[in-house]
Amino acid sequence: MWYPEHVNRLMEISAGVYVATGDLYVTNSTVVSDGDGGCLLVDPAVTVADLAGLAADLRSLALRPRAGFATHPHWDHVLWSFELGDVPRFASPLTVAVAERERAGLIEGVQRSAPGHDLDLFGRLNPLDPPDAITWHGPQTLVITHQAHAPGHSAVFFPGSGTLVAGDMCSDIEIPLLDLDQADPIGDYLAGLERLAELPVERVIPGHGAVGDGAEFRRRIELDRAYLDDLRRGQDLRDPRPIAGWLISEHEKQVAWLAKGSARHS
Ligand SMILES: [Zn+2]
Repeated sequence: MWYPEHVNRLMEISAGVYVATGDLYVTNSTVVSDGDGGCLLVDPAVTVADLAGLAADLRSLALRPRAGFATHPHWDHVLWSFELGDVPRFASPLTVAVAERERAGLIEGVQRSAPGHDLDLFGRLNPLDPPDAITWHGPQTLVITHQAHAPGHSAVFFPGSGTLVAGDMCSDIEIPLLDLDQADPIGDYLAGLERLAELPVERVIPGHGAVGDGAEFRRRIELDRAYLDDLRRGQDLRDPRPIAGWLISEHEKQVAWLAKGSARHS
């Protein structure tokens, strides 16, 4: 994607909601204004230059981060920089626990793929209290925590605008990516999709991929369900999304995991 010079990378997609899309993995960072010079920053990502660009864009919009949110404990969702300020960065209690427990692996991931971040700030999260809302002075939030894709994965829904910040789900360029360390990753994923499908979503912001409207959100939910159904039934991959090469190997891992499971149970 090309951005003209001197134009904010952060695009206002609806009143007070901004999204910047990084080149690496088509990663989205979401900013929601509190209407009073402050903002909530969800999953700021992904390279050092991207975070510097975000901080610069926020300065030119006269928005100061007042809180952060990390949707799940994967390295590209728990980043931060000094310039973004010393503010609470919330996540579900399970995400906080997993980010602490798996810190060494997360650091390895960020150093391999997007080196140069301040590791003192990396993955430093505060558990949400209460667990289903972000305490801040901006638009009301509903935090939906489920176990699809990663333990404690949380989507943030803004009922006032029908905006869903989905984390690593509901993408137009990714198949469902399962957490194969869990006992029932497909069941967990389907349960997570059910929770999201119940919401009156008018706009979806996935962790990776394009922002979509309500109809597009429902299309992606159906594609994800169909993918999981095919996977379970041993169907060949026939997902219509433009799936990148690395996702084909993730798909093959999911097929192999399932084959091992059925060998175990037979
Ligand atoms: Zn992820």
